[in-house]
Amino acid sequence: MLGTLLYGERDVRVEDVPRPVLQEPTDAILRVVAACVCGSDLWPYRGIDPVRRPRPMGHEYVGVVEETGAAVSLIRPGQFVVGSFFASDNTCEICAAGYQSRCVHAVGVGGAQAEYLRVPLADGTLVATAEPPDADVIPSLLAASDVLGTGWFGAAAAEAGPGKTVAVVGDGAVGLLAVLAAGQMGAERIIAMSGHPDRQELAREFGATDIVRERGDDGVAAVRELTGGLGAHSVVEAVGTQASMLQGIGCTRPGGHMGYVGVPHGVQLPGEQLFFAEIHLLGGPAPVRRFLPELMGLILQRKIDPGKVFTLELPLGEAVDAYRAMDERRTIKALLRP
Ligand SMILES: [Zn+2]
Repeated sequence: MLGTLLYGERDVRVEDVPRPVLQEPTDAILRVVAACVCGSDLWPYRGIDPVRRPRPMGHEYVGVVEETGAAVSLIRPGQFVVGSFFASDNTCEICAAGYQSRCVHAVGVGGAQAEYLRVPLADGTLVATAEPPDADVIPSLLAASDVLGTGWFGAAAAEAGPGKTVAVVGDGAVGLLAVLAAGQMGAERIIAMSGHPDRQELAREFGATDIVRERGDDGVAAVRELTGGLGAHSVVEAVGTQASMLQGIGCTRPGGHMGYVGVPHGVQLPGEQLFFAEIHLLGGPAPVRRFLPELMGLILQRKIDPGKVFTLELPLGEAVDAYRAMDERRTIKALLRP
């Protein structure tokens, strides 16, 4: 089968690789219907995360169940399913509390940019639709697998809700979908921080009421000016750099909440600044599984259209071009069809 492997900096290849097989009785094998390139795939692609051996790429997926292990009882062959990038049992105490990405049995799902994918802990990880979905909602269901789920977690962690002003740092797909999430949660005002006209336009479509183009201290000053000098009640940080974390903290009012969902790279928070900011911080790999049933429901009822973040669609065999387009920021997010 075809699969995408990263060999080193800017060296991604689509090759003939062995088709995955059941390894544990709790596994399922999916025929991948759609996958995509994640902003976090760009860290190793750009050589910022070292790649020591060819690495199967992709952790966002929707597919049809081909085969299940003997211990799988809830998921059946033939079902259309959406899953998260962390497999979870969905039964332990951590899962029960809604933090499935830190399940005591959590294991990463990888190699989704391929024709077939092995998903561990299938019963806990996968959510099936009642019937095969219409083709036009597949990009949105794929978005639920990670970017929407992550943006949603960021907005939930930031306690976005009625009467709240929410600021979003980062205009990648996760930041844009955090804007959509904040709107769905009833936020009164949503400030998207973005310097790119095409992304500002999508942010407005997703519900942003204000755009702040400035970054860093200037961005913080602009958000404070828009909020009577106080800062936003809720801030979502969706980048993962030192500058974006400090920008997010600076935009949050005392007593406010920041959800940070950008994977941190070299972030060192100054203790004193953190202490006197006096804000609530919650971040981490999004427990997408917590939100999947609700998000899939909203998508299937056509109440939200998060699939709009896919501004490029290519056959799996052209995954190299998908990486290039995202690396050069020519596209917001690239969808791959096996
Ligand atoms: Zn668990």
